[in-house]
Order: sequence, then structure tokens, then C-alpha cells
Amino acid sequence: MSPPDRLLKGIGVSPGIAMGPTVTVRWALPEVPHRVVPRTQVEKEVRRLRAALKDVRGQLSELRARAEDRAGVDEARIFDAQLLMLEDKEFIGGVAELIRENHFTAEKAFEFKTLEVRDLWTAAGNPLLKERLADLTGVAIRVIQHLMHRRGGADVWESLSEPSILVARELSPGLTVQLDRAHVVGLISEEGTRTSHAAILAHSIGIPAIFGLRGAVARIRSGTKAILDGTRGTVLLDPTPAEIEEAQGRDTRRRELSTRLEEAVAQESVTLDGVHIALRGNVDLPDEVAAAKVHGAEGVGLLRTEFLITGHSELPSEDEQAKYFQHVGEAFAGHPVVIRTYDLGGDKFPAPFRGSPEANPFLGWRAIRVCLDEPEMFRTQIRAVLRAAVTANLHLMIPLVTRLDEVERTLEMMQEEAARLEQEGIAAAKSVPLGVMVETPAAAVLADRLVEVSDFLSVGTNDLTQYTLVVDRGNARLADRFTPHDPSVLRLLKFVAEAARSAGKPASVCGEMASEPLSAFLLLGLGYDTLSVAPPALPFIKWLIRQVTTAQARAAADAALAARSAELALDILRFALAEAVDLTLLDPDARLPAGRRSGSLKL
Ligand code: PEP
Ligand code: MG
Repeated sequence: MSPPDRLLKGIGVSPGIAMGPTVTVRWALPEVPHRVVPRTQVEKEVRRLRAALKDVRGQLSELRARAEDRAGVDEARIFDAQLLMLEDKEFIGGVAELIRENHFTAEKAFEFKTLEVRDLWTAAGNPLLKERLADLTGVAIRVIQHLMHRRGGADVWESLSEPSILVARELSPGLTVQLDRAHVVGLISEEGTRTSHAAILAHSIGIPAIFGLRGAVARIRSGTKAILDGTRGTVLLDPTPAEIEEAQGRDTRRRELSTRLEEAVAQESVTLDGVHIALRGNVDLPDEVAAAKVHGAEGVGLLRTEFLITGHSELPSEDEQAKYFQHVGEAFAGHPVVIRTYDLGGDKFPAPFRGSPEANPFLGWRAIRVCLDEPEMFRTQIRAVLRAAVTANLHLMIPLVTRLDEVERTLEMMQEEAARLEQEGIAAAKSVPLGVMVETPAAAVLADRLVEVSDFLSVGTNDLTQYTLVVDRGNARLADRFTPHDPSVLRLLKFVAEAARSAGKPASVCGEMASEPLSAFLLLGLGYDTLSVAPPALPFIKWLIRQVTTAQARAAADAALAARSAELALDILRFALAEAVDLTLLDPDARLPAGRRSGSLKL
């Protein structure tokens, strides 16, 4: 077979490289013979069902404990979904009814009901239900095997003569948590995605895995030698000695990089010439607070607040918001947390505000415009921030600013609300630093004026690029035109940094580009000393910062600014960074694992 035929691609769900022979496991519903029981045996059959359910509950509770041991408390909860299915009155009642009315055996009735629910969930087209299909199948296999006195698939690998890669149509969490790395070095599943329960467990246990590899069972003969790369999401069959050597080298480089990144978490974020660069985390959802902390964030540079509204039918209360802001603030004691006021509109329009559709929503009623037009909602958010700021170092930041009066109006509202809170005898800060998000060309060219009426600037390069280049950031067709390294965007970035420096006020970048190595290097050179990045990218950006000098970054940024195109600017940066950092450690096909909007290792 030629290399393209030997290289299969799926979704890398757990990083790392594994090599070995493959072994196919059939973790599927067993064939259940169609048998009916005499009327007199029906109640006995229902009792047999109940006894099986009780035993399987016991098995699952053991697996749950094992998962807690091996993967963690959160991961162990995965088994709760399966335990709940066993207690679902409607489902179990339906199985018992099939036994009583159709005289099915318990195993046939369970199979029948499972297939009925599976069809229903598949047809519903709801991605959440689809994700839970593996749980349903997992429970059904266990119950049916138990009723048929069959042994589970879990013992397949115990008889393996050498460490192997399991190939299955679908992997259940129960099967995955029992895996032993001495026997099983990698996993391939036809079904599933990054968020499948089995994928989460494989990641926690540290077994490289690829899911969603269509036709894997038919295409990979049991016993075939393979190299699985869970970071790239590829499987190479029958590798040549040269391919094995190359994969081993890749593995060594990755491990070395990973050791350096682990070390970076506890190290200071400082350039070789001693300049401290504040590295903060971008937090969209509450669960990213922990990720940002674990990865060593010095506070939060962009706390998105839209999740408080989207998906809810009512606006969040002042108390609810104050509690959340206080929680995040306290998690980063000693460091600032920058709360961005609601950035509604564009593609994020929650039910309470859904008005008539606009022809151009990204040029429409968005962000600070909505907030100023809906003062009650805006004031509630401001009051929540002021109250939470009693115990935490909170800053407020407004999105999509295009005019000075938007900042002035916000400042007035903050002062009015502070006075009102004082009158009401409610503990609250008198004010918090107010920042402007520079994410429109208007704000960028007005940066010197905006910085006079605010306390700091933070550049949102996602929108700044979109509006400067007139390229919809979500349009896949225009993806190669969405280039924050375009000469026009670079000039704006430089202008904003200089405006802030002249005014003696801080400027940071919180757009996605700050999470990418070449761009982070460029931003240092343009004069930004604070970057707010996706939590998984924090160690990587810090590792890079610690190997460069500000003089190198400045020289590279000056050269990039003079480039005629984004491609040339990137070439210049790549070349300059390679002088300072061992870029051979980076895998050009890999992305940083895990986490929303994780940074790219790509150069
Ligand atoms: C940006 O526009 O760069 C930004 C950080 O904000 P968002 O991605 O939430 O629009
Ligand atoms: Mg934005």
C-alpha cells in the first residue's frame, strides 16, 4: 500500500504517540436470539431483569470508584449518566412492559427498548443526545451480557502478548476506564468525538486516542502494525523502519517540549533581558477559571460575560453576577480580573433582546451600543462589578467602542451607581479602572483620545482584523484573508501601543492572536507588555517569552511592519524567532491539546 492508503485520519482526542499491533474489540450489542417465554414464566423474567439491573448497578459503581482513582472526581461523574439510565422509570418500565405484554425474554426486551431509544435519539438530531448514545449502548451491552451469562469485552486485552492498539466501533467509558497501559497503548474508535465520555477518560488516563475514524474496524485488520498519533489524529499502518524512526523522533521532541512547558508554569514570565510580561487568561465560561489558574495565569485579561445571558430566558440578577465576579476575582487574588461588559449582538442574541432581524448584525446593534440603550441591564452589571470589587481586584472593560462619548457615558453610569449603592448602604467600591476594547478601526485611530478618558486599552484583534480588512471572521471561505498580520492591522496595533505608552497607561492584547507564538513575539516587539491568552496556551507563550529579548522582538516587529503583506510579515517573524527559540521542538501539524479556543503550535 502507498503511504496515502496507509494513513488514516480521525479526530485526535487524547494526545501522544503509540506504536504496536492492533487488536479489534467487539464492544457491541450481542446477538440476542428471539425467544418467548410461557405466560407462567413472565413474572420470573421480570425478576431476572431486576436482579441483572442490580448487579450491573454494582459493576458501574465499582467502575465509578475506579474512575475516581485513575482519572479524578469530575471524570468519575461520567458513570452517573449510566447509573441514572438504569434507574430511569420510563425506560425500565418499558422493558418490563415488553416482557409482560409480548412475553419477550428479559434480554430481548432490553435490546428492543434500547434500539427504540437509540433510533429516537439519533433522529432527534440533538448533538447532546447523540453524545449520550455511547452511554446507552454501554449500559445495554452490560445488562444484556449479564442476562445472557456472557463475559464482558473487558478481558480481551488481558490475553494480549504485547502492548497493543485497540480498534473498536464504539468505546464505552466503562471499557476505557478498565484499560491498563501495560497492555493497551492506544485507542481507535469509529464513533465519538472529543467530548465523548470515553475520550475524556482516555485523555485523563493518558492513553493516546483517535475517535471518529470511519470504517476503522473494516480497514484495520487485527494484528496490523500501526503508529497512532493522538495529537495529529492520524494512524499509519504497516510503517517502514524510516517512518518508525521519524515517529520516535517526533515523540521525543514532544516530550521534551511538554517537560519544558510544565516547568514554565511555575516560572516567571520575563524576557531574557528582564522585562516582565503579564500573561493573563481569557475566560469565557466558569470552568476555564481553573484551567487559567492551573496554567499559571496572572489574572484574567478578558472575562467574557455573555454566558450569563445566552441560553437563559431571563437576565441574570445583580446578586448572581456579583457572586460570579467575586468568585473569579478571589480565584486570582493579587491579580486583576478584567470583566468585559455584555458583548451582545452580532451572532450572540439572547432571547430577552431578540428584536427584528438586522440586515448586517455585525454592523448593527451590538456590544456597548446595546448596553447604553438598555441602561437597566447595563447598570445592573456595573453595580454587580462594584459590589464584587470590595474583595477583589476587578476592572471593567467595554467592547466595540467607536466613540469617546461611549466611554464617558459608561463612566458617568459607574459614578451614579457607586453613589446609589452608598446611599443604599450596600458595600461597594467607589469605582474600578475602566478600560476600552480597541476592536474597531475607529477606536484604533482614536486610541490617543480614548486613552485620555479611560484607564487602559485592550486590543481585541479578532474584531479589529474583521472590521479593518472587511472580512467576516466566521466566514470559512474568507479564512485565508483573515490575517491579523496584514500591514494595515499591524500599523493600527503599533499606533495603539504607542498611544498608551505616551499617556503612561497600560495596553494589552486579548484577541486570539496573542495565543499564537509568532504573534506573541510580534506583540512584544510592538510594545505590548500584557497579553491575555487562551488558558491552554499560557505555558507555551511563557516558554517563548523567556527565550527572547525585547530588542530581538522590537527588531522583528519593525521589519514585519515594513513588510508588504501578511505572508511576508509572518516569514520575517518566523525567521527572527528561529534565531532565538528552538523551533524544531514544535510540531507543525499539532495544536495545543484540550480547551476551548486553544492556541496553535503552528508557525
Ligand atoms: C476580539 O474581538 O478580539 C475579542 C477578544 O472579543 P470577541 O472575540 O469576544 O469578540
Ligand atoms: Mg470582539
